[in-house]
Amino acid sequence: DPRLTASSPGTATHCPYCALQCGTRLSGVRGAVEVRPDPDFPVNRGGLCQKGWTAPDVLGVPDRLATPLVRGADGRLAAAGWDEALDLVARRLREIRAAHGPDALAVFGGGGLTNEKAYTLGKFARLALGTSQIDYNGRFCMASAAAAQIAAFGVDRGLPFPVTDLGGADVVLLAGANPAETMPPLLRHLDRPDLIVADPRRTRTAERAALHLQPTPGTDLALALGLLHIAVTEGLVDKAYVDERTTGFDAAWARAVAWWPERVEAVTGVAVSELRAAVRMLAGAERAYVLTGRGAEQHSKGTDTVAAFINLALALGLPGRAGRGFGTLTGQGNGQGGREMGQKADQLPGYRLLTDPAAREHVSRLWGVPPDRLPGPGRSAYELLDAIGEAGGPRALLVVGSNPVVSAPAAGRVTERLGRLDLLVVADFVPSETARLADVVLPVAQWAEEEGTLTNLEGRVLRRRRLLDPPPGVRGDLEVLHALAVRLGEPAERYPCAPREVFAELREATRGGPADYSGISYERLDAGAELYWPCPEGSTGTPRMFLDRFAHPDGRARFAPVEHRDPAETPGPGFPLYATTGRVLAHYQSGAQTRRVARLAEAAPEPFVEMHPDTAARAGLADGQWALVRSARGAMRARVRCEPSLRTDTVFVPFHFPGAGRANLITHPALDPRSRMPEFKVCAVRVEAAP
Ligand code: SF4
Repeated sequence: DPRLTASSPGTATHCPYCALQCGTRLSGVRGAVEVRPDPDFPVNRGGLCQKGWTAPDVLGVPDRLATPLVRGADGRLAAAGWDEALDLVARRLREIRAAHGPDALAVFGGGGLTNEKAYTLGKFARLALGTSQIDYNGRFCMASAAAAQIAAFGVDRGLPFPVTDLGGADVVLLAGANPAETMPPLLRHLDRPDLIVADPRRTRTAERAALHLQPTPGTDLALALGLLHIAVTEGLVDKAYVDERTTGFDAAWARAVAWWPERVEAVTGVAVSELRAAVRMLAGAERAYVLTGRGAEQHSKGTDTVAAFINLALALGLPGRAGRGFGTLTGQGNGQGGREMGQKADQLPGYRLLTDPAAREHVSRLWGVPPDRLPGPGRSAYELLDAIGEAGGPRALLVVGSNPVVSAPAAGRVTERLGRLDLLVVADFVPSETARLADVVLPVAQWAEEEGTLTNLEGRVLRRRRLLDPPPGVRGDLEVLHALAVRLGEPAERYPCAPREVFAELREATRGGPADYSGISYERLDAGAELYWPCPEGSTGTPRMFLDRFAHPDGRARFAPVEHRDPAETPGPGFPLYATTGRVLAHYQSGAQTRRVARLAEAAPEPFVEMHPDTAARAGLADGQWALVRSARGAMRARVRCEPSLRTDTVFVPFHFPGAGRANLITHPALDPRSRMPEFKVCAVRVEAAP
């Protein structure tokens, strides 16, 4: 926008949605908030997608929650005062804990929460509730990428280099990522490089690619093994780099040696010529990057799949070198910070492990409690939800910033489990599908009404700034957690309500850890410093990681010996097709926010099932007809959308829609053994006419 300059007015903040965290300037008053892209923020360079342009609409959606709701004896949610709602929640939590122990209380957080909220939520769960049972929806998003990067590099930062570096690349391989729809401004950095896209669908990103590899769903790991095989057999491995900077090549090669190109073609459906072309493009480029997204990661073998792409990148000498690299494209707004701040089942703030005695000592000293007051690791997100109603499982659940009724796998089963709870409390700013099931709903502030920080997909720490006060009756999440903690007998000063105070504490919690924020402050960020973690006190942060050494003690990256295996479910009698799930441009995650924005709802109003015209015809279906997409777990209702570019053995469904249109009614809850990531990206289905 030419009217904007560096000194243009407005509150400088960031989009409330995805991990790109596009810079914006906000101005106006409630009911007339205007958003403009920030021309000075290098990530989006003055661009926004339609979600970002319409973000102010979320502030005033007609059904915005403005008062606590408590379910009455008649079974209905009714308005209540804050004291009444909080007293009730605290009393029921105490009763359930007294009767069933602290692990009967559980917390489910979100990857959109600010760093300050994610940090406080972890502390609240472990100290105020005393439970080990906390996890968050990032388990459904980034868990496999994180597990693979930690194993390979010693630490996980989605992109260990600035997004702007991609603009200098010659070739970029995108495995299972569709930024043209999920984060369009990223394409400003992908105009120059030749793109290789691996995706079963011909997405809008694939349409721009120099080479589109279209593997059978669930075979990305075989694809990556095949690419490594070709790199080795064609003599394209960077031997000096492998010798100097890595370990484990021989073991990885011992697995990949059996994945000769013809076998890979037979398993993935990708022609040998295309496999060879991809490797030659990558190896022949002066500057190349390999990036993965949810398409490669959301599998029961997601960690190994990411590891296989890392193996390829290591063999070609890409990670930890200027102008080259490996990375994963984080999805949720604070997907990166959210996984570092202690709301993960196995972690303390600063990406420290709950099982590490030194980490327990460090964090417990900061929190003013003995180390043995910190519980051990708890269940992962799906396992936590699935244990509800089982012996020893959760009986009370606090959900903050998440909507698992729509976003969890096997959503029908999860919804039934939520119905077994003795107490479900949801903090949200709209009556999400999960909030509608709650016993108590607590209305909280949202993006432009709050201060805080988020960490975007590059590990860059950003300030979220307040333009508006929250509406009357609405409180900040930090205030809510403070009020509940005090009612549960915790010292008030342990739960500050001011984000700045929380940040000052979380800096200390992260000090010396893998994701060190100790050199970051609101003052530095507000003065315009560009700060990427690790940022030890006194440093200027680390835009590019691993240039000298990787984060393992020996400084070397690790190859991983990985092997392909089938998905938990493949097509067969009764369910002859693959189904894969994903996103559309107009909606974000479970759609709880974007479905309420009229302009976005108009752009993408209803669930659909994308299928090849021949596949539709075989099922007796026509374009525009309502259908049921049925798996062994349930059926979703969706409108048929014929798409000739799709594989004839595959259908695609978006996961943003509620009710009978929930794609997660059909998804498989098989979990990756290491990351506990569910298999969202592949299951077996049939499609039939809806009654
Ligand atoms: Fe940018 Fe993502 Fe917001 Fe779109 S949704 S404007 S890509 S941050």
